Amino acid sequence: MITRSPIPLQCRPAEPAPGAWQAQLAGAIRDPHELCRRLGLAPDWLPGAEAGHRLFEVRVPEAYLARIRPGDPSDPLLRQVLPLGEEAEAAPGFVADPLEEAGHTPKRGLIHKYAGRVLLIASPACAVNCRYCFRRHFPYEENAPSRAQWEETLAYLRDDASIHEAILSGGDPLAASDRQLAWLVERLEAIPHLRRLRIHTRLPVVIPDRIDGALLDWLGSTRLQRVMVLHINHAQEIDDAVVEACRRLQAAGVTLLNQSVLLRGVNDDVDTLAALSERLFEAGILPYYLHVLDPVAGAAHFDIDDDAARALVAELRTRLPGFLMPTLVREVPGEASKTPL
Ligand code: SF4
Repeated sequence: MITRSPIPLQCRPAEPAPGAWQAQLAGAIRDPHELCRRLGLAPDWLPGAEAGHRLFEVRVPEAYLARIRPGDPSDPLLRQVLPLGEEAEAAPGFVADPLEEAGHTPKRGLIHKYAGRVLLIASPACAVNCRYCFRRHFPYEENAPSRAQWEETLAYLRDDASIHEAILSGGDPLAASDRQLAWLVERLEAIPHLRRLRIHTRLPVVIPDRIDGALLDWLGSTRLQRVMVLHINHAQEIDDAVVEACRRLQAAGVTLLNQSVLLRGVNDDVDTLAALSERLFEAGILPYYLHVLDPVAGAAHFDIDDDAARALVAELRTRLPGFLMPTLVREVPGEASKTPL
């Protein structure tokens, strides 16, 4: 079974208060039986859920579970998190490292693919395990730096004045503790040529209580410009708690963008994509990218072919103002940027 390493010990407060985000993170459902039982799925879903779970463990926090319609196996949120037997089927071109990131890690925990920006693996853990994740096979164990190794990574940033942006990624960077993140951001902002801090996260969506005072303290006070790229694939993911979390982030000076993945059975129709853009804007988030699926082993059943993707987006353009249109892209290994389709 592919498991993500547990949340690093230093990320856990000794005893999180009941209901605090740390307690919600620790209490996420990690058992396919429990997931099927809680959602009232028929018993014939269980063998597939167990088979998929053996490849990439199930993880669903309660706050996300509450937005899934019980008894509906086609629910678009459930489809993102329910392991299926299809994940064990090999598909041509679907591989463990579809973006060939292993060749772009000059330092432990650092991925440098594009000019001017680097990506830092700030946490090996996620609050939710998305079945289509392009990093579902990522060797997090080999890329979780110690404090001493972070110093080497930071030296790499200090030595390259062409780097203007640090991107915190993971896993989910917000699964790390605020103490750890504040430590890291303090060192990043001491690098004079760094201008921006970008955070790629799904945590404000799946556990909105993550956006608490402790997080806003370090995020709101850094000199770096702050951009948060959320990951939301369906309007049903944005409930009132998510809207409130976004409001708090904006009040702290954070620009909010969204990237989605085009997923068969989740958001591969124009009405759903239009509703997503509208709902994002209501929450103060601008649509940024609509990614076609990265061909990661275990996720082929989510794939949409390029012509169908282009047709969807062309129709979407007739329905939405330009500022609500995400750019349809693919990440091609070795290219200097994302590739528009
Ligand atoms: S939250 Fe992001 S990194 Fe984590 S499993 Fe989902 S898609 Fe992958």
